[in-house]
Amino acid sequence: MRRKLAAGNWKMNGTLADLGELDSLAETHPTPGVDILVCPPATLISAAAARAGKGPIQIGGQDCHHADQGALTGDVSALMLADAGAHAVILGHSERREGHGETSEEVRAKAKTAQAASLMTVICLGESLGQREATNTLDIIGAQLSLSVPDSSNGENLVIAYEPIWAIGSGLTPSPDQIGEVHDFIRARLEKRFGAGVGRSVRLLYGGSVKPDNAAEIFAVSNVDGALVGGASLRAADFSPIITALESA
Ligand code: PEP
Repeated sequence: MRRKLAAGNWKMNGTLADLGELDSLAETHPTPGVDILVCPPATLISAAAARAGKGPIQIGGQDCHHADQGALTGDVSALMLADAGAHAVILGHSERREGHGETSEEVRAKAKTAQAASLMTVICLGESLGQREATNTLDIIGAQLSLSVPDSSNGENLVIAYEPIWAIGSGLTPSPDQIGEVHDFIRARLEKRFGAGVGRSVRLLYGGSVKPDNAAEIFAVSNVDGALVGGASLRAADFSPIITALESA
């Protein structure tokens, strides 16, 4: 029912010279059994979208402002991302929540505008290590979920990425049971809020140190519909085996 999704977050990495990675991915996965999304920095979206063309890879942004336009130096709107060729945008990544003080309310405002601009929103949620150790994980995830997700969401325009902050870029990953507990919880919350039809159609990604050697184990977990991948998405040689593992899951 839910088509799986392998999403790559290049973060603040990459110049025009790196777009050849998209060609390599497209050559290795000409007709993939899963959706593939690559989110390069904003400077590369236009060129990446042109390069990806109508092929198997879609391009996304990593953030947007909640306004469509205005006196907002340095910001980029959802309409601008769509105009540049983006199909999706990552919102509420922990590096923005922590590094830029983004609140869940702001994430919801951004998501509302992005969905109105026909972008698929990949909304990130995650607990810190301290919150997990204090056994507050589900409370934190529940609050972020209800505050960050706009009412305009559905299975087409919303993807949730569960990304424990302590797992991002650290080489640490939660156990399959820990991932399953959070994903089952998110699924139940979405079904309660949006009804079973919509709640079951939203894709749930796991993110945080997904690598070729741990991908299959993570993709076997219940309610894991794919991954949001940081470091291992930068090179096709690393991202491709993750895509293959998802296709076989
Ligand atoms: C991310 O930042 O979204 C992420 C999952 O990073 P990494 O895969 O490098 O841990």
